[in-house]
Amino acid sequence: MKFALINGNKMEAQPGLRGTCVYCQSDVIAYCGSEKVWHWKHKRKSLCDSWWENETEWHRTWKNYFPTEWQENIHSDSTTGKKHIADIKTDRGFVIEFQHSAIKSEEIRAREAFYKNMVWVVDGTRLKLDYPRFCKGSKEFNSWLESKYFRSPIWKDIFSTYFPEECFPKRWLSSLVPVYFDFQGISPFAQLDGKHDLLWCIFPGDIGGWAVVANLQRKDFIECSLTASSLLLAQDICSHIAKRNQQQRTKEKEQRELREWREKQRAEAFRQFMINPRRRR
Ligand SMILES: [Zn+2]
Repeated sequence: MKFALINGNKMEAQPGLRGTCVYCQSDVIAYCGSEKVWHWKHKRKSLCDSWWENETEWHRTWKNYFPTEWQENIHSDSTTGKKHIADIKTDRGFVIEFQHSAIKSEEIRAREAFYKNMVWVVDGTRLKLDYPRFCKGSKEFNSWLESKYFRSPIWKDIFSTYFPEECFPKRWLSSLVPVYFDFQGISPFAQLDGKHDLLWCIFPGDIGGWAVVANLQRKDFIECSLTASSLLLAQDICSHIAKRNQQQRTKEKEQRELREWREKQRAEAFRQFMINPRRRR
């Protein structure tokens, strides 16, 4: 963890320091080696938050864009009493989780259900194939016709794709909240090709199988998260997709019912014919 409590104050790890964990209150020691980012280490990690993942430089870079008091901020569920450490929880209660390690679909669902008002930022540089797959898959992107309803200058391009699984890891495709992929990692200007420096958001849900993907500048995402929330930023599009998805389902249901009704009529006519074939002449 980046922070521990010393005399009630949130402190970063410095050589020789000891403190208490903000979550489990057990003793922690500052780890200030050269291989990993400086952090606080538990004597017994088993007591701490099971959702916590070891931090990388990438996590730190992201967290540092936000005020200290928002970082590693504990979120509690008032009804169940459960609590977890959110990577970022803003003063308005919105959560941003930065995900580097592999994560199971069940845990994705569990965290979304727990935090509710949240978005994910996923490290798209963890696996070598992630970015090449995205580049190849994004060739199937179409300009989203309904993007005309969303004129926010924040979104650079809004696309629709029928093949989101060819761009993004499958486990993120059934998320109920926006997922932003960061393909730049921590080397900002290393391979700038116009796609790396943007964040790519896949929105929850689909419209008749078409997923919606949009991109924006990293600085705009941060700015929005600092001033309002990254969830609000995506809200209009999320609601629109949900509404269109509902319309699509209703339409499909009506077509199915019409088909069934016609089949029934045909079957009934055939049955009548079999009972009394002459009557039809
Ligand atoms: Zn702890």
